[in-house]
Amino acid sequence: MRDPAKAQNPQVDPRHCRYRLRIAQSRIHRWGVYAEEFIPKRHKVIEYTGEKISRRETKRRAGGDLNYLFTLDGYWTIDGAVGGSGAEFINHSCDPNCHAVIVRGHILYVALRDIEPGEELTVDYRFEPDVPTVRCICGMQRCRGTINLPKQTKARPRAQERAAGCT
Ligand SMILES: [Zn+2]
Repeated sequence: MRDPAKAQNPQVDPRHCRYRLRIAQSRIHRWGVYAEEFIPKRHKVIEYTGEKISRRETKRRAGGDLNYLFTLDGYWTIDGAVGGSGAEFINHSCDPNCHAVIVRGHILYVALRDIEPGEELTVDYRFEPDVPTVRCICGMQRCRGTINLPKQTKARPRAQERAAGCT
């Protein structure tokens, strides 16, 4: 179960991040994670931690309107609502400054470009086109309108699989 105290005042777990980060209210959605210092491009920012759950359990937990599920592979999912590092509060953007890289079963968020202090961290959630559509309100010029990927880009290699850029 999610700790209600943590839900009221979420914190980043410093054991899982390389840079000073802060959770604050976001213009995008509820809470967001902000850089408190300069983060250079291609550097690891934070690990997305949580309970490792099966496909069946994922289906059960995905029912609510708010969840922190991150697909690790075809079978496992990480549920950031249980033992999350704070990375679960990083919002989606269609033009993000971080991306997820999966290394030996760990989900690492890596800076896609230099990030200045005070900037909100974002990743592209890349929801599959065949799951229920979630409207995007990221406000970026390149916003595609939904958090889901459009159908035709499904065959493209996922950002997570391009691990070479990880420092
Ligand atoms: Zn968007």
